[in-house]
Amino acid sequence: MKKPTQLIHAGRDKAYTGYAVNPPLVRASTIVFDTFAELKHAAAHAGDRVPFYGRRGTDTHFALQAAMCELEGGAGCALYPCGSAAVSGALLAFLTAGDHVLMVDSVYEPTRALCDKVLKSLGIDTEYYDPLIGANIADLIKPNTRVIFLESPGSLTFEVQDIPAICAVAKQHNIVTILDNTWASPILCQPFALGVDVSIQAATKYIVGHSDIMLGTATANEQHWPQLRDHSYLLGYCASADDAYTALRGLRTLGVRLQQHEKSALAVVDWLLQRPEVAQIYHPALPSHPGHAIFKRDFSGSNGLFSFALKQGNQKQIAAFVEGMQHFKMGFSWGGYESLITATMQLQSQRTATTWPQQGPLLRLHIGLEHVDDLIADLAQAFVRYNSVA
Ligand SMILES: *Cc1c(COP(=O)(O)O)cnc(C)c1O
Repeated sequence: MKKPTQLIHAGRDKAYTGYAVNPPLVRASTIVFDTFAELKHAAAHAGDRVPFYGRRGTDTHFALQAAMCELEGGAGCALYPCGSAAVSGALLAFLTAGDHVLMVDSVYEPTRALCDKVLKSLGIDTEYYDPLIGANIADLIKPNTRVIFLESPGSLTFEVQDIPAICAVAKQHNIVTILDNTWASPILCQPFALGVDVSIQAATKYIVGHSDIMLGTATANEQHWPQLRDHSYLLGYCASADDAYTALRGLRTLGVRLQQHEKSALAVVDWLLQRPEVAQIYHPALPSHPGHAIFKRDFSGSNGLFSFALKQGNQKQIAAFVEGMQHFKMGFSWGGYESLITATMQLQSQRTATTWPQQGPLLRLHIGLEHVDDLIADLAQAFVRYNSVA
């Protein structure tokens, strides 16, 4: 079955939907049982999509969990109140005091801060590695390395990692691999086929797709699901039925939304390639991108998110660029229907294992579902403002 078709069917088992097209929205803390036998059965199967207690989920959650497993290819899926909780939940499920974690240097900045502050205080040692390291990750493995964390492409600078090469090395050493797969959404990359043990989604982004819900998922393979399930439960992670329902609704249109995000983003990239002010465009679908060959091998397409570096630009010029946009709103996050812009003046402070080569500021765009002509006109005006500042 092709991905767009899978998105329509995912999680719509009769066991969850009953007679309706969609699973009902079931809000619950207490689940009640008629017989002692039923209660004991539920207790024995809690965590495996059997109603037991609200924190373990209801049919609404089970439908989303089933959908994520069908789409990403995992054995079980834990839900979290946001993507960052999925990151912490997955890391804490597999790490303990005295452990060593290898973390990709291009990782989402709050994940870096989690390692440097929280994991450190728990006695867990983080070492950052070059996103382009590939099989040479073997050189960084220590006897206490328990987890290798990947994010590909990096969601600010778009380095593409050799996921299969890194996972193959990890397997030889019995190390758990966790991938932040948010950029690909559940459809542009098949993490388990590439050898990943746990795949994380900030569902907040493309799955929900409308910038109105925070939600995270972590899907694990057969071997790692029991530990992820039990630890996430014991740490108290859960999500509301309303948010799970909204995420399921988002999934149904993800295919067509992503196609449009991709098409418009590539048109904006083409236009930016002609601009003399632009030093570099970071988009993995560009043949000139250093990770393009691996991207073509491991991903089935791209989305609406990419960055570009300007040759130069001071604070005033960048403010002139990003202020006064008609369509690109200034703000973090991405994956909604609307276009967004953010600027980073200096990237090196977010890198410790590698050197960021560009001197100029970096602008990140999320290309939304507006007509691309309007978006390009908005950017053209931004360049006029930028160029008019001395
Ligand atoms: C947004 C994001 C997260 C965090 O998700 P929240 O729902 O905002 O907590 C994690 N990883 C990546 C790559 C993200 O873009």
